[in-house]
Amino acid sequence: MDTQIFQKLVAIAGKKHCSNSPEEMHCYSYDSSKQTFLPDAVVLPDSTEQVVAIMQLADKYNIPIVARGAGSGTTGGALPLQGGIIVSTSRLNKILDIDKNNHTAIVQPGVITGEFQNELRKHKLMYPPDPASLKFCTMGGNVSECAGGPSAVKYGVTKDSVMGLEVVLANGEILNTGTRTEKGVVGYDLTRLFTGSEGTLGIITKIITRLQPLPEHKETFLLESDSLQKTTELVTTILGHNILPCTLEYMDRTAIQIVSSLLPEDIPETVQAMLIIEIDGSRKQVAEQCERLKKLLDKYSHCTLRQAVTEKEVEQIWLARRSISPACFQLSNSKTSEDVVVPRSRIAELVGFCEEMAQRLDITILTFGHAGDGNIHVNMMSNDQSSAEKEKVLEAKTALFQKVLSMEGTLSGEHGIGITKSAYIHMELDTTSLKVMQQLKTLFDPKNILNPGKIFPQSSASR
Ligand SMILES: Cc1cc2nc3c(=O)[nH]c(=O)nc-3n(C[C@H](O)[C@H](O)[C@H](O)COP(=O)(O)OP(=O)(O)OC[C@H]3O[C@@H](n4cnc5c(N)ncnc54)[C@H](O)[C@@H]3O)c2cc1C
Repeated sequence: MDTQIFQKLVAIAGKKHCSNSPEEMHCYSYDSSKQTFLPDAVVLPDSTEQVVAIMQLADKYNIPIVARGAGSGTTGGALPLQGGIIVSTSRLNKILDIDKNNHTAIVQPGVITGEFQNELRKHKLMYPPDPASLKFCTMGGNVSECAGGPSAVKYGVTKDSVMGLEVVLANGEILNTGTRTEKGVVGYDLTRLFTGSEGTLGIITKIITRLQPLPEHKETFLLESDSLQKTTELVTTILGHNILPCTLEYMDRTAIQIVSSLLPEDIPETVQAMLIIEIDGSRKQVAEQCERLKKLLDKYSHCTLRQAVTEKEVEQIWLARRSISPACFQLSNSKTSEDVVVPRSRIAELVGFCEEMAQRLDITILTFGHAGDGNIHVNMMSNDQSSAEKEKVLEAKTALFQKVLSMEGTLSGEHGIGITKSAYIHMELDTTSLKVMQQLKTLFDPKNILNPGKIFPQSSASR
């Protein structure tokens, strides 16, 4: 990067908060997609005004700008594909307001999601979206990817908890969207447009969130079953019996095996699949729902329901669940992880398809995820030294997407498109949808400086 431009960045954010040293560029060159692209400079602004000045600079000199939260995204969203400036939100990390009367809050984008949730707990309030990465991912990254988690089955995903945003546009103008009121239909819903836009339309500098009262009580169950198919079928059965869990997570045999040492008890060899089921609400509601659940599952001989008794057991179950993704690397050194969604009545069919495909192609595929909303993480493992295995995984990925779309599903429920799925979006979006989306991108970012190369197919995009 031109020294004069770097000096202008220094003038905006201060010497301590800007870098172009090769060592630091490496620190900002990767995310959880395991791909690397070097930026030319990194800047850590601490106010909206500084973000505005950075955007004006980028606009003037046509420099790519990539916003970065924690870099935990799995689809390459935070990677500077064409170099340019990384805008790290790590100093924009303040909870600005918690309104206990109206159940809303305002946070800066660099706030760590789990830390926000811990703070709210002190006020008996809750921000429901709970991605497994909540201990390190940021609110800005969550909004930009429209992150989801286990509680989505009851409380929805990030877009259901975002009421408004402050966004710095590509030309440095500040846009405020949404309201702090529950209702509001004045004009187009720009909040929803920005939620899930993967940093391609503007830099989010403030987030107004909807909060929920913290449920009085929660019970956690582990269902162990000797049939994978029957376990996935139970998902619709449970939801069809007037039981609304706040968690309905599923793991197949391989997923169980790689985290079994973290679980509170030994899992018998015969167990082929598990569900984590949680029920929250008032003590009375929880007691009623738990009773109904136990009665219902009593009828099925393929499964056993165990109730976690201590807080430690609950923690162990969640540690095991949240560790599945990184633990996959015990199996092989390369993972292609897809977060497809199908109507939940068809999870059994999807899981069966994955099993057959793993056998046919002779690769390891493990499945786990948010069964309550049909969002299944399909993890296809390969050895990155073996081009034959990598080819098989690519074949499996295309076949998986074809199958999911034939089942009226969607390619991504929460991880977004980034660069790892951009070559496939035409499979789901028709030409009119793609054209309208590209027109919107051009309207907000006519010079294509905001996270260029993401979402839409590019020749440089990686699979
Ligand atoms: C172990 C593990 C478990 C995970 N589990 C889940 C899960 O359960 N559910 C789930 O949804 N995801 C999950 N993820 C994926 C990831 O954590 C989420 O996508 C998360 O939302 C990314 O947040 P981040 O702060 O790391 O964002 P980053 O990876 O830094 O960025 C993600 C995208 O957001 C953009 N962005 C970041 N901040 C801003 C901003 N202020 N303005 C505009 N654009 C911005 C970036 O440019 C990029 O396109 C998991 C990841 C890991 C590694």
